[in-house]
Amino acid sequence: MKYISVAIDGPSGAGKSTLARQAAKQLGYLYVDTGAIYRTVALSAVRAGIDPADAPRLIPTLEKLDIRLDYGADGLQHMYLNGEDVSQAIREHAISQHASTVSAIPQVRAFLLDLQRELARNNNVIMDGRDIGTVVLPEAQVKLFLTAAPEARARRRHLELCQRGQDTPFETVLQDIIRRDEQDTNRAIAPLRQAEDAVLVDTTHLDLEQSLHAIVSAIEEKIK
Ligand code: C5P
Repeated sequence: MKYISVAIDGPSGAGKSTLARQAAKQLGYLYVDTGAIYRTVALSAVRAGIDPADAPRLIPTLEKLDIRLDYGADGLQHMYLNGEDVSQAIREHAISQHASTVSAIPQVRAFLLDLQRELARNNNVIMDGRDIGTVVLPEAQVKLFLTAAPEARARRRHLELCQRGQDTPFETVLQDIIRRDEQDTNRAIAPLRQAEDAVLVDTTHLDLEQSLHAIVSAIEEKIK
């Protein structure tokens, strides 16, 4: 049986995870948040006292890395590092930048490729990330590139952090978003870019409901 893959790529804070999760729920697909996997690698480096930019030290630790992912009774994706549920710990603000740093290491990307493809081999998936439509699932039946102006993305990320009790100034969040965009777009391997056959969805002026409608309609249009 052939499963359907929906690839959603785009920069940080475009609303990919919220929208992909809700669209997946609506369509009955498995939602795969690939950023969470990179975040877990970053957390593992930090906990081991390794600078996430120190590729020569980080690479040899990859094969011993015990990273697993499962879906709890709540239907949410949980990340496990050495058996510990780190789903909350990987959301800390500092880990975002470290995740972007480790994700620029080719061996890290290669190491995580199979894990991501395996999920799409066995499920109908909506997978979100930076290189899903271009590298991980180039054969995906549906590809969306979700974006929004940096200020709009920073506003949403800031609100999300505040709601989690993490008090980071707006200006810091905006600068971090700009820096991560820059890093993710300009890296040599699997840079963030819109696949040629991806549909562009710009959510700058759309609220959550409108964005969700735009995404679900784009998916239904492609798979009908
Ligand atoms: O999506 P999220 O913000 O959680 O991703 C954290 C970081 O992981 C991103 O800034 C990006 O550098 C990296 N990433 C990636 N490829 C993916 C998903 C995330 O390089 N498919």
